Amino acid sequence: MNAIEQLNRTILLCRDYVSDELSDASICKSFQSLRVLCVADAANLSSHSGQSCLTTVVALLSRMGMQVTLAIPEISSIRRQPPFRGTLLRYSLLASSNKLISGAAVEQESSEREPDLIFVLGNSAIEQRPCPTWRLSGSEWQGAITQATTCAPRWTAEWPIGAMTSAVLAAGEAFKYVMRRLPLKSKDDLVCFEPSRVSNWDFGSISTPAGVLDLGEVDIVSAGAISPATLYVLLRLPQPRIAGRIFDDDTTSPTNFNRNMLTLVGDADSEKVRLVVDRCSPEFDLTPKYQRFMAEARETQQMAPYVLVGVDDIPSRWQVQRCTSGLLVVSGTSHFSISSSCHRPGEPCCGCQHPVDDVDGLTAIPTVSFISFWAGLAMAVRLIRRAVGAGHGLDRQHLWMTPLRMDQTHAAMWSPVAARLDCPVRCSASWVTGSG
Ligand SMILES: [Zn+2]
Repeated sequence: MNAIEQLNRTILLCRDYVSDELSDASICKSFQSLRVLCVADAANLSSHSGQSCLTTVVALLSRMGMQVTLAIPEISSIRRQPPFRGTLLRYSLLASSNKLISGAAVEQESSEREPDLIFVLGNSAIEQRPCPTWRLSGSEWQGAITQATTCAPRWTAEWPIGAMTSAVLAAGEAFKYVMRRLPLKSKDDLVCFEPSRVSNWDFGSISTPAGVLDLGEVDIVSAGAISPATLYVLLRLPQPRIAGRIFDDDTTSPTNFNRNMLTLVGDADSEKVRLVVDRCSPEFDLTPKYQRFMAEARETQQMAPYVLVGVDDIPSRWQVQRCTSGLLVVSGTSHFSISSSCHRPGEPCCGCQHPVDDVDGLTAIPTVSFISFWAGLAMAVRLIRRAVGAGHGLDRQHLWMTPLRMDQTHAAMWSPVAARLDCPVRCSASWVTGSG
């Protein structure tokens, strides 16, 4: 196995903008040559949010093939941080070196080579260096990055959604840094990859539940990229509980490592569902269903009250919607954009949302760690909010996001979903539209 194979889908995505003359090996090398220093002090790592921010940014950077160096003290892990293993935080991150993507090292800081970029957690102290530096900060539901000349608050929260939001914002900046150094097809496209001085995202503050968070009975369709990202997020909640099933008939390929947040490089050829279930144990009581989701199968006649779908194939989503009698949450990616929607009985369904199959003929999906992670994070937040009785209203039924420039006003848009006469699912909302 080699990094070019493992980063195949990331390289494919870069080709939307990168000059056709550049080889796969050159694109791969440009990611592998980037060195990112992550700095955090004991105070910022004394909270679960600070620890989740650090582990998530290291995971997202490593899954792009980048070199990570750490300037952090050793500290006990407050909670488990799968797929990282161990009870000491720095030890578990260093032990992940070359295990998320081959050649993506995680090492202690040394004076041998200056970093290209620096990410600093909260208000940790740093010495001035001549390279782009961002502070990662946030609260329970909101995450931000700011260029380091400004102040940022210390990480203190236990609830980790804002922490993972801040981490994914930072990972996007590292990706753009690499893209700015590559020859692009058009210089006009450079605007997509300009650095953000400040960017933030707020999922909307609601009171966070104390004690055990019962997310209920959940069926999950696909164990490829987005669902594992959702589970990665849910595993980091304080005392989460889920019971349910996960459907997928595929085995893990090296080309999944760039975005499946629960894999390690030794996992090639394992059943995706079994792998995900193992990594989510003992917190979650999931049953692996190593089979393709089929509407006519016996197992799909009685679906759980909550169904999560992380497949990009549009007709597959329609099929799941037809079998669902409760809440359906759908998340997907399309190149540099993500789409996340939520459908309760009687509301416009996912067929109304995507009434036409996307036939761009791609068999290999171009994507990168931080784009898939945004899709999974958005799906996790929808499930959490429903479980605590604070689901989004119809005006936020759909979220469309292009996270390259989160410093721009229109990087993300919430919208309602309109019921359609030509809904391929023929949902009840489309009948009402038809009779009207
Ligand atoms: Zn519909």
